[in-house]
Amino acid sequence: MILLKNSIELQKWITKQQIKGAKIGFVPTMGALHNGHISLIINSKSQNLLTICSIFVNPTQFNDPSDFEKYPQTIETDILSLEKAGTDLLFLPNLDQIYPTGTAHQPVYALGNLENLLEGRYRPGHFQGVCQVVSRLLDIVQPNKLFLGQKDFQQCMVIQKLLELKQSLTELVICPTLREASGLAMSSRNMRLSVEGRQKAALIYQVLSNIQSKLVSSSPIEQLIQEGKSILLNAGFEKIDYLELVSVQSLEHNPNWEPSIPSVLIIAVYLEGIRLIDNLPL
Ligand code: AMP
Repeated sequence: MILLKNSIELQKWITKQQIKGAKIGFVPTMGALHNGHISLIINSKSQNLLTICSIFVNPTQFNDPSDFEKYPQTIETDILSLEKAGTDLLFLPNLDQIYPTGTAHQPVYALGNLENLLEGRYRPGHFQGVCQVVSRLLDIVQPNKLFLGQKDFQQCMVIQKLLELKQSLTELVICPTLREASGLAMSSRNMRLSVEGRQKAALIYQVLSNIQSKLVSSSPIEQLIQEGKSILLNAGFEKIDYLELVSVQSLEHNPNWEPSIPSVLIIAVYLEGIRLIDNLPL
């Protein structure tokens, strides 16, 4: 695996590969890699001649500075996992390579309501930060395909919008959420949970699956949602930012479940002070 830290060197390498006709798949990450990330690499490898992964913990997407400071960093094991998965190149930039003119005057992206709902409501500015870093990475890598995880459902929709705004030729490939045997969605943040917390966190997926199994066409789902929230709070989850049924298209709240309208159950909760998100498309 080639490791590059400099964006100009990376662009030169990519140009050479593209002249040879290589199709490039790109997997942007913030490191602390787990099998969910590796599944994106494997997906990319199956669809492209070359797979590039980036690791960059982007400060502009953290609305909570302590969350940024505590973000797990496991670069040595990350490199080994990426090599084992057959990644062709790891891009490991520092802040200057991503934001050569600083982070203060970044473009503002017209994301509409997408950035005000759900995650946007609780993490103001988060999706602007995500767009800033992904836009810059796309400009550098210019991949044929971009691989993102459905685990971050709203992020996938935001990046789809970003690709439209940039009139980009890059195709977005959304990959399924990888889970632990317990059902817990794999996440770098799980590393910060205690052993007991990790077991308890499996309740998030159980609650989503339980609501799904009880859905009856056209019935209001408010009661199921309230029951789900009580189960989590009684189990010791400190806070629920949201647990909602929303339309896949608009992410707007759906008070009733209509099988003809693609919907997703979506959740953000706190356990042991750590914010965990998950979702279940219906
Ligand atoms: P992150 O490092 O958390 O920014 O994630 C990098 C990419 O990995 C994003 O596209 C995530 O959606 C994706 N990802 C994170 N967790 C999972 C998972 N459990 N299954 C599949 N993809 C994931």
